[in-house]
Amino acid sequence: MIGAVIELSRVVEGRGPSCSTEDLGFLFAEHHLALAARMRPVVAEIAALEANGEGDATARATIAALGRAGLFQSFAPSTGPIDLRALCVVREALAWGSGSADSLFAVQGLGCYPLFAHGTAAQKERFLAPALTGRTVAAFGLTEPEAGTDVASLQTVAVRDGEGWRLTGDKVFISNAPVADHVVVFANADPSQGRKGITAFVVPRDAPGLEVSAQIPMVADHSIGSLTLRDCRVGDDLRLGEVGAGFGIAMGTLDHFRVTVGAAAVGMARRALEEAVHRASVRKQFGKPIAEQQQIQGYLADMRAELDASRLLVLRAALLKDTGAAQITSEAAIAKMFATEAAQRIIDRALQIHGGLGVVRGVAVERLYREVRALRIYEGTTEIQRVVIATRLLQAEKQRGGT
Ligand SMILES: Cc1cc2nc3c(=O)[nH]c(=O)nc-3n(C[C@H](O)[C@H](O)[C@H](O)COP(=O)(O)OP(=O)(O)OC[C@H]3O[C@@H](n4cnc5c(N)ncnc54)[C@H](O)[C@@H]3O)c2cc1C
Repeated sequence: MIGAVIELSRVVEGRGPSCSTEDLGFLFAEHHLALAARMRPVVAEIAALEANGEGDATARATIAALGRAGLFQSFAPSTGPIDLRALCVVREALAWGSGSADSLFAVQGLGCYPLFAHGTAAQKERFLAPALTGRTVAAFGLTEPEAGTDVASLQTVAVRDGEGWRLTGDKVFISNAPVADHVVVFANADPSQGRKGITAFVVPRDAPGLEVSAQIPMVADHSIGSLTLRDCRVGDDLRLGEVGAGFGIAMGTLDHFRVTVGAAAVGMARRALEEAVHRASVRKQFGKPIAEQQQIQGYLADMRAELDASRLLVLRAALLKDTGAAQITSEAAIAKMFATEAAQRIIDRALQIHGGLGVVRGVAVERLYREVRALRIYEGTTEIQRVVIATRLLQAEKQRGGT
């Protein structure tokens, strides 16, 4: 019986991703609408890949599929700045279908964007070009066991060694690490200078002295591991940007992707609402669909309102950047914080509407319930977004002459 109902849930899965372009078209350009349409077969292809396998092989196959679809090209536009609304369209659609595929896509971006923005021609040819077509996998190594939110306190060191460098330290929670071909690693070349000593390097998987741990088991499918660097030798040609420019490179990269975490949350929340509406319409108790109960209708209405607020906040930030705003620090923090927190509430309600079925493995809302959790933590926790938002508010008040 439960299996049959799960099957119903899968019928909903077969509908294909909906996307913010559908009723907020006025916030997008033509090419965004075309991109949203292109995402339907991609999401179906990923679903088929995941149905037939898991682990590293599936992660690599997913990256290859996303590369074949041309989706990584948006990390390195041939003209102009990165198109944030395009990244939002892709993440919303991917997260609708698979949190794991969404994460693989986003982290490929984190490992490509620093090369695009700061790499030499030789670095771009060797590392960026194959990653943009999905032939290789990229990762971004910033977090350490003792440096999470306070990333400027990272302890990995880069010591000059003749013409090159020796990197020593530990990195944790590095997404894509188990399958990565290169990792953008942040290390301090002059710890006495604090964050001003942090320097970026692009480290190939086979660099001597680099060890990648096995997969860290997470609450939801997510390719993630740790790095150990012990006198890891890299040439100076693998330094990314100037010595001491690494903190700016790391923050600049995260600034570009923060809004898109909100878009991923929107994709997951949309999926949850669609599943909840469907389930409430077909599930009968007391002789009628539970959708006819006012409490259930109240849930659905609240979910829709929170979802729309999230979509608008995400698109406000992305549109501002796409139309030339120099900085969207506050808007991006608001979008990331609100959309990820709201998605958690929306998915929890969707699960409640499913009753016992909601906690059965394999049902879409159960998967979403696990997948959404990490979004409130990575790329700046909710608490840190609040610090950013409040700091900007109080700075503005000071500038106006307030006390
Ligand atoms: C699924 C996942 C994928 C990730 N992928 C990557 C990756 O690819 N590359 C990478 O480099 N890192 C990655 N990370 C690491 C991620 O960026 C960190 O987990 C995050 O920055 C928080 O650091 P932490 O886990 O050490 O928590 P901590 O910094 O120890 O924070 C613990 C708690 O304290 C709060 N806190 C800390 N400081 C303050 C403050 N000043 N004010 C208020 N509250 C505060 C935090 O908000 C949090 O609630 C990933 C993490 C996860 C969960």
